[in-house]
Amino acid sequence: MGLLDLDKIIIKRTIMGIRCTVCGGNLVVTDKMCLAGRIAKIVSLGKLKPECYECEICKKRYTLL
Ligand SMILES: [Zn+2]
Repeated sequence: MGLLDLDKIIIKRTIMGIRCTVCGGNLVVTDKMCLAGRIAKIVSLGKLKPECYECEICKKRYTLL
């Protein structure tokens, strides 16, 4: 009998199909608008609504346009 791996049964709001390219971890939405997202929004005159995600394991930031 092995120990129950609690990490695997914790359910969080995750983005389906998007994984961290560095560690393969789940990406979660961050409240803070990241710099790349702000620039993309300004350059596109508000047409793009970039969303920012953060890897829950290595904390790498991603911007989805
Ligand atoms: Zn990661």
